[in-house]
Amino acid sequence: MPEVGNLSNNQGETDSSPLNQAHLAKLLEQHLRSLQVAGLTHLPKNLDESNLDLSQLLTSPDTTASLPATATNPDNSSTKNYAAPQHTRSANEINEAPQSNYNETTNNAPATPTIIPPTDFSESNRLPLEQRQAALNVLQSEISQCTKCSDLAGQRTQTVFGVGAPNARLVFVGEAPGADEDRIGEPFVGEAGKLLDKILTACKLERENIFILNTIKCRPPQNRNPSQNELSNCWGYAERQLEIIQPEFICCLGSVAARTLLKTTQSLGKLRKQFHSYRGSRVLVTYHPAYLLRTPSAKRHVWEDMKMLMKEMGVELSN
Ligand code: SF4
Repeated sequence: MPEVGNLSNNQGETDSSPLNQAHLAKLLEQHLRSLQVAGLTHLPKNLDESNLDLSQLLTSPDTTASLPATATNPDNSSTKNYAAPQHTRSANEINEAPQSNYNETTNNAPATPTIIPPTDFSESNRLPLEQRQAALNVLQSEISQCTKCSDLAGQRTQTVFGVGAPNARLVFVGEAPGADEDRIGEPFVGEAGKLLDKILTACKLERENIFILNTIKCRPPQNRNPSQNELSNCWGYAERQLEIIQPEFICCLGSVAARTLLKTTQSLGKLRKQFHSYRGSRVLVTYHPAYLLRTPSAKRHVWEDMKMLMKEMGVELSN
């Protein structure tokens, strides 16, 4: 692997311009991701200080000098980990996010400052489409066998992996499958799903061009909220999905998704109306469609949020 701190041309001249370093970083990241999808999970951690900038480009803000997908398998099986998350949350971390029943009104702590690093989401800088699809297929197969939550695994009809485009610019993250989702095997196909479809139509979005997934993949009985243990068990799968898809935008539907993804305890009301950052993706938080079914007056807030998101994505909407 070439020395990356300083770039030398054929004449032995050194070019350490940011442009060349950024270009090399892109190429190297593509190469690493290809190796990762092929099964490579670790690199020797012997990068010296002169390479620190590049290693930061290749990893998430909260990782050390490792591949973007340092292997961490949520179910601790020996299964090969394809496109594993950069950082799988510990039980303690996930326990910091309290569960929610779509009640979004309590925490008045000040909002977390939004720091959004510049990220290049051009196709040339992303994992090739076929590799993303292949990695998602492997992950879906792995999840379908998961029995970490014995209560859920024993009662589910099937796991609900998620659906959509492997190269989606926008990923919606919901909470958990309901009865209809458990029966059909797709997220958001019940009444809340019909409302989400209306929201998508109003935003000129189509399901086949986005990706929809849930925070956990099995239906909690009686549609109860996921327990902290279930979130801890399952969130790593969603992290891996997001790692593979590499979306430019993420929309968290409801406080369970928002608090889990953003690792915060803040109320949904505090998290709305601003863009957050998740591993380079821009994150917007809004209400869950199930909450809107019970609280129709909140629909106007969702519309405000979606207009904000669409504007950022360059989609023109009528008022
Ligand atoms: S909820 Fe997730 S971790 Fe728990 S059994 Fe289902 S797939 Fe496995």
